[in-house]
Amino acid sequence: MTLRLFNTLSGQLDEVVPADGAELRMYACGPTVYDYGHIGNFRTFLQVDLLRRTLRLFGTRVRHVMNITDVDDKIIRNAAAAGVPISEYTPRFEQAFLDDLASLAVERPEILTRATEHIPQMVSLVERLAARNAAYRTDDGNWYFRLSAFPEYGKLSKKDLDGMTDGARVDVDEYERDSARDFALWKATPPGETGWETAIGRGRPGWHLECSAMAMEFLGESFDLHAGGEDLMFPHHENEIAQSESATGKTFARHWFHVRFLLVNGRKMSKSEGNFFTLRDLLLRGYKASAIRLALISVPYRHQLNFTFDGLDEATSAIDRLRTFAARLRSADLPAGSSLACMAAAARAEEEFRDALAGDLNTAEARAAVFEMVREGNIALDAGQLRSNDRDAMLRVLDDFDAVFAVIADHDAEPTRAAIEWARASGRLDEVAPELLAAQTLTDAEVEARIEERNQARRQRNFRRSDEIRDELASLGILIEDSRDGVRWKRK
Ligand code: AMP
Ligand code: ZN
Repeated sequence: MTLRLFNTLSGQLDEVVPADGAELRMYACGPTVYDYGHIGNFRTFLQVDLLRRTLRLFGTRVRHVMNITDVDDKIIRNAAAAGVPISEYTPRFEQAFLDDLASLAVERPEILTRATEHIPQMVSLVERLAARNAAYRTDDGNWYFRLSAFPEYGKLSKKDLDGMTDGARVDVDEYERDSARDFALWKATPPGETGWETAIGRGRPGWHLECSAMAMEFLGESFDLHAGGEDLMFPHHENEIAQSESATGKTFARHWFHVRFLLVNGRKMSKSEGNFFTLRDLLLRGYKASAIRLALISVPYRHQLNFTFDGLDEATSAIDRLRTFAARLRSADLPAGSSLACMAAAARAEEEFRDALAGDLNTAEARAAVFEMVREGNIALDAGQLRSNDRDAMLRVLDDFDAVFAVIADHDAEPTRAAIEWARASGRLDEVAPELLAAQTLTDAEVEARIEERNQARRQRNFRRSDEIRDELASLGILIEDSRDGVRWKRK
């Protein structure tokens, strides 16, 4: 089966097939690791996950590269404020990001790659551009891309760009103006600031350059598909195209996949608006990882999605329905054979499910097709009409559904447990829903171990720590009494 997907570059639905006939080479812009990601970010990563899972369901091998932007304006600013080098600042947020992806059942890309580990490739790209007169250095040591060297600039975003002033420059990583400017490839930095000594001078790469260099490093100068959120279309992706194609003379990526925003009350969810939730926020409120995943993927990627708690509740009950049906199927004692109606229901669901995904990843229709089968299957079970072959056929449909949606198999306990652990370690236990804490029962041995830890803190006269442990145990319903002959404890 072949996936047809909207291509921002061509402005139409195009078939997604590997140019080399073997594997689909795709690049997705990864996170800037300066903070925890919000679920708007994760909507984009989830839709990319859905894309790769669908390709694989249809029998296409993928080679998916995702970068980690571990140097940029915001990282440098935050690391400086924290008084640490960026190499000490970013690993924590990179790990948090990877943990969050795992919680959301997002498959690991084949290749994860850090910007700071590809400085030589970035430098040589600047050199190639300079050799073609498409890059120039200013007196302050910065390098810029010469926009007038690339007449096709704007072909991706199709923006009506202001008359281009030759030599007008911009050197911040992010800008949103509808104007074409020479953009920074490389920024000079004085000793003492984050920078690398290179053949083009001391400095650090611009954000756009990072993605071009890493994409070409792992996928070649020309590859199949490039993905990101809709805000990256301009200027980031436009700039990636300009630098890459000016250097190589070849088409950079043939297909451009852009995921529309997650909104809150009609506005983009974003750090700067302050209207965001992280994954951990929602897990600590008691929402399951699977429900968050389903809510973020059920609306097709080309529509903006308004985030609501009702949406999470709806996803929670939808998953419940799917899991209950799957469990019912597996445990039912069924007569041998098959029934015409049930086999037809399964076959129809499978076909509609695949067709919907093949048609521009229409997750809403794909989901509806499977829910229709669940409805029919439940009726047949109630009426005693379901037979063992019907069960096998329906379970196969659920398996295919879950190969892409990944919400029926229940892996919800671990993300919630990890989120509570994280809240505890970062002093945020007050953000945890009481019913979650109550459900967290410690074994006797675990309680004893905590108490021993507290005793040790007391011996070291670290009363802050010992109180912390007492409060933490209290929040788990475990009461401690200090008495003359030691510590006694009991469960509330
Ligand atoms: P960043 O870490 O800011 O570079 O963003 C990581 C990814 O999340 C990028 O592909 C962005 O386009 C995407 N993104 C940011 N905000 C949203 C949002 N509200 N909805 C969907 N995707 C978003
Ligand atoms: Zn990028």
